[in-house]
Amino acid sequence: MDIEKIFIVGSGLMGSGIAQVCAQSGIDVVLYDIEPEALKKALKNIEWSVGKFVEKGELKEEKSVVMGRIKTVTDFSDAGTSDLIIEAVFENLDLKKDIFGKMDTVAQPEALMASNTSSIPITEIAVATKRPAQVLGLHFFSPVPMMQAVEVIRGQSTSEETMLKGKKFVVRIGKEPIMVNRDVAGFVINRLNFPSSMEAMRLVEEGITTVEDIDKGVKLALGRRMGIFETSDMVGLDVTYGALMSMYKETGDPRWFPPMILRRKVKSGELGRKTGKGWYEYDKDGRRKTQ
Ligand code: NAD
Repeated sequence: MDIEKIFIVGSGLMGSGIAQVCAQSGIDVVLYDIEPEALKKALKNIEWSVGKFVEKGELKEEKSVVMGRIKTVTDFSDAGTSDLIIEAVFENLDLKKDIFGKMDTVAQPEALMASNTSSIPITEIAVATKRPAQVLGLHFFSPVPMMQAVEVIRGQSTSEETMLKGKKFVVRIGKEPIMVNRDVAGFVINRLNFPSSMEAMRLVEEGITTVEDIDKGVKLALGRRMGIFETSDMVGLDVTYGALMSMYKETGDPRWFPPMILRRKVKSGELGRKTGKGWYEYDKDGRRKTQ
């Protein structure tokens, strides 16, 4: 079965990005959210981003053709005619299990179900369904239209066939699959990335240097395109915090316990771009105030 229609649950930063790259690759997308406002915002952001690709000549099709492939809904009846369901709601195990359980009852028997979780074991989500062999992790990176890697993650019961279909889908949407053979906490990329992010936060917490200088340093000395704190503000401090807590709970390894400065910021609502303040401050259009 080729994947020609996909159903995405959650139209936030990741769900909308995934919808965009799928639509740009000729796949019909149904984007579902419980919040009608979130769907409106998602469509606005996607339209803007597709427009940029067209402007730069990186997309041959008209913006309206790409946008025409995306349908937004607030109920999940369309899930029953989709070949793949991708979940991208908040990083919360109970919520994800609830969604997978409900989707399982409406999805076609052969449909695959994927989670974009950053840190929750796929195995724990898959047990909420009667098709754990068809459940996998498809972990996209932010900003989805720009980042080329997607982790394809095997849960305890994920079949080889599902992994291969997942890999084929990632290639089909123009991305590069990173195959992850066991759903260990943090998978592969976050296992590499989080230690440096946490060390950067501790350096700021200890007053050794500033947010600005760390970002300057990683760009100019390590060749990163974005600073650690710029990325953190885009991803959402709560998202990183949630991922670290779930890795800590899963492993009991103190290495993953979030630095105090991150805990405090999250508790006080400084979540990054989405709240106007994180490591940096932003105006109402999401532009950075301080340089
Ligand atoms: P987000 O907060 O931007 O969006 C989540 C969306 O889910 C919201 O629009 C919300 O209304 C919707 N939602 C919540 N409950 C729902 C329900 N019951 N049914 C339908 N929709 C519901 O979150 P995000 O940053 O897009 O993250 C989504 C997932 O992707 C999380 O699991 C996160 O860990 C993972 N992830 C995030 C990033 C990142 O950079 N932000 C990167 C990789 C993976």
